[in-house]
Amino acid sequence: MRLRAVTSSTFLLIILSSLFVDVSVSASFLPALIKGIPLWLKNSRTSKFSSVWNKLKSLFTFKKGLKLGDVYKGLSEVKEYLDIFGYLNSTLNSNFNDTFTLELQSAIKQYQKNFNLQVTGQLDQDTYSMISQPRCGVPDVVNTTSFTRWWKPGRRELTYAIHPRNNVSNGVKVLLRDVFARWSNATSLGLAETASFDGADVRVAFVVLDGEGGTVGGAETNYSARFGSVYLDSEEKWVVKGESDEGEVDLESVLMHVVGHVLGLGHSFVEEAVMYPIVLPDKKKTKLAYDDLLRIHRIYGET
Ligand SMILES: [Zn+2]
Repeated sequence: MRLRAVTSSTFLLIILSSLFVDVSVSASFLPALIKGIPLWLKNSRTSKFSSVWNKLKSLFTFKKGLKLGDVYKGLSEVKEYLDIFGYLNSTLNSNFNDTFTLELQSAIKQYQKNFNLQVTGQLDQDTYSMISQPRCGVPDVVNTTSFTRWWKPGRRELTYAIHPRNNVSNGVKVLLRDVFARWSNATSLGLAETASFDGADVRVAFVVLDGEGGTVGGAETNYSARFGSVYLDSEEKWVVKGESDEGEVDLESVLMHVVGHVLGLGHSFVEEAVMYPIVLPDKKKTKLAYDDLLRIHRIYGET
């Protein structure tokens, strides 16, 4: 359990309930041994999650909308956020300033269009609210339209492994097996667990990303080294079984999503789709939606 101020009666209740139900991946489960982002996962984007998210949080209480021409302290963070997720077509090393530019306006319009918000081009309350939701670390807007298989041509069987130092419970292993089995059905690819993490085609790891909220996980593929990685933020309040409450994140739904990425799917803006980038509260997504199936079949054919 995470440390928090609790009254003695709630504390007793927590102890009692934990005796009977294994509902959440708690702090004691956390992979304390994997500090920071491992080298094989570290890139210019994943390294920025933490600083951007922590600076952005202070902006969410701001009520007034911002528009073209405004100068406001913190806008540079909004630009950085939009840049990380593909909305600003600039290099990741640019130094953003706090001026609401035309470029920012069109990035916000694109973001609002994607998330079915009113397209105002302003940083309004609805847009702030959407930005404040926990989400996937993979960009929404990417330059490539087609998927390049990162594994050797002709291979129909791939392996996956979870980082041994994460020391996950059986419950997590079962979820992972189910998730890979569902994607295997949809793609006709064999996806089997292997004991060797470094030798696995798909590496799954809980890592320290940006604290609670913000980026909950994501995926990367490495074409030259021919492996895919799936990462999950070890500091989220992960729920393994049952429904997630406010502030908690359903592990199975996120696993479904991130595994979809390594197999070739980008984000979908159909809210019901597993590949929708935002973690919606109270929405467990364990089965592929029609939209996910349509898109995965476009890559692998009907199964
Ligand atoms: Zn994603």
